Amino acid sequence: MKPTHIEHIGIAVNNLEESIKYYEEIMGLECYGIEEIKDQKVKTAFFQVGDTKIELLESTSPDGPVGKFIDKKGPGIHHLAFAVDDAGQKLQDLSEKGVRLIDKEPRKGAEGLNIGFLHPRDTQGVLTEICDNKDHK
Ligand code: ZN
Repeated sequence: MKPTHIEHIGIAVNNLEESIKYYEEIMGLECYGIEEIKDQKVKTAFFQVGDTKIELLESTSPDGPVGKFIDKKGPGIHHLAFAVDDAGQKLQDLSEKGVRLIDKEPRKGAEGLNIGFLHPRDTQGVLTEICDNKDHK
């Protein structure tokens, strides 16, 4: 199953408000949504750029995944999300090819889409997310 596009690029930021200002006032984009994802301990802000979104991630707790990432590497690009027709099927295909999965089963990510993360040790050092390219209701 071939990815259809880059669904989004996740960027870890220290301060959501300041980063939104940069993307709006300097880059000229418009933030169309802010959402807190409690189980991931992040607050997210979204910008659309063509088919692709920018997903800003501010940690809501130092022990969350983004808090730990910033602690180790500082703010910056956190993950890449590929859109596919069926995230569950793609995760299974990748697992059969020997890619370790962080999420064995897809779960609901931001915007209610089915998503799953792959282990960065098996993805050339880039934390990679597989994401449904639409809302399967
Ligand atoms: Zn993401």
